[in-house]
Amino acid sequence: MPEFSLSWFLCSHCSVISRVGKSRVFSRVLHSLKMKLTIKKTAAVKSPVEKDDLTLLDLPDSILECILERLPSEGLNSMAGVSTALRNMCISDHLWEKHMKQKWGEVIGPAAYRKWLCYIATQKEIAILESKKRKMDFDSFENIWPLFKTRTLEDDNSHRLQGSIPVDSVMAWYLSLETGKSSFPAQVYNRESQNGHVGFMLSCYDAEVFYDCHTNTFTARFHGRLVIEENIEWNRLRKPVIDSPPEFLHTSSCLNDLKPNDHIEIQWRRSKDLPYGWWYGVVGHLESCNSDAAYCQCHKNDTVVLEFTQYSHGSRWHRAVIDRNKHREVGNEVDGFYGGIRKLDSEEEISKWKSLWPNSTLD
Ligand SMILES: [Zn+2]
Repeated sequence: MPEFSLSWFLCSHCSVISRVGKSRVFSRVLHSLKMKLTIKKTAAVKSPVEKDDLTLLDLPDSILECILERLPSEGLNSMAGVSTALRNMCISDHLWEKHMKQKWGEVIGPAAYRKWLCYIATQKEIAILESKKRKMDFDSFENIWPLFKTRTLEDDNSHRLQGSIPVDSVMAWYLSLETGKSSFPAQVYNRESQNGHVGFMLSCYDAEVFYDCHTNTFTARFHGRLVIEENIEWNRLRKPVIDSPPEFLHTSSCLNDLKPNDHIEIQWRRSKDLPYGWWYGVVGHLESCNSDAAYCQCHKNDTVVLEFTQYSHGSRWHRAVIDRNKHREVGNEVDGFYGGIRKLDSEEEISKWKSLWPNSTLD
């Protein structure tokens, strides 16, 4: 059993804490804990008044809490399996909220949260039904209850550590996402590019996505059509930009503000029975304008020109025109339907779109 001095640990906990998640020290701590949670003090520091065996749980709560707060998610999860007392600390929501935000904050939105709440409710209903069923079984087989009781207690003991993460805890949600057990709604940039399609360049479509921790990529099942795309990297995912289903028309609140060179996203769908995707574009000048900023009056005109410069000038997808005052949805079954518009004010959002620009202009 490796030697590990608690006094050293206490004296230097500040520096240990910063390394504990990744260093061999953490492995030694875990190993020591699993060896009956005993930290053996060396003879050099042993005092007659001190106990021979001390455990990590003998640390002051504030220091132990400090250590747990700095553990990576894998370490926190492992630590939860060491003992019941540590598990009760390690499953705390406040410890896992930080990990949720760090790993999933950019791709998890309100819709994913609502889906998780529905999952919790379903699991609780299942638990209640199973509990009632067990009671019915017990009533039916009361004569064999002693055997049943013995088996149940053994099962409870063997699964006490790993099987008791509350279903409604943040830790349970995190692990459910991490293991790909749960999917969540998100939006995927440049849909199907991994499948060899270029037709969706500079668009972002809603999908149900699963995480694969082995490849650190996602699999997406797109809404509306039975299309699956695999090996999607993190940089092609974002949380839904509006909190409504992809079939809903977004109400544009920016129409009166639009002026040439503004960056926008607009909903577009091929036909009315399909969900919208979001497409990146810029506001252009009217044909009557020479694009000279000193004389440009395009921002005062009822007609707004939208340009999609990922497409060549000759492409029918290069340009669309909307009515600034009446726009809701325009289009037809040939060119598709243009819906609600979001004006992009965030440099981060604009940069994101530019980073996904196709290698060549599309037709
Ligand atoms: Zn102009």
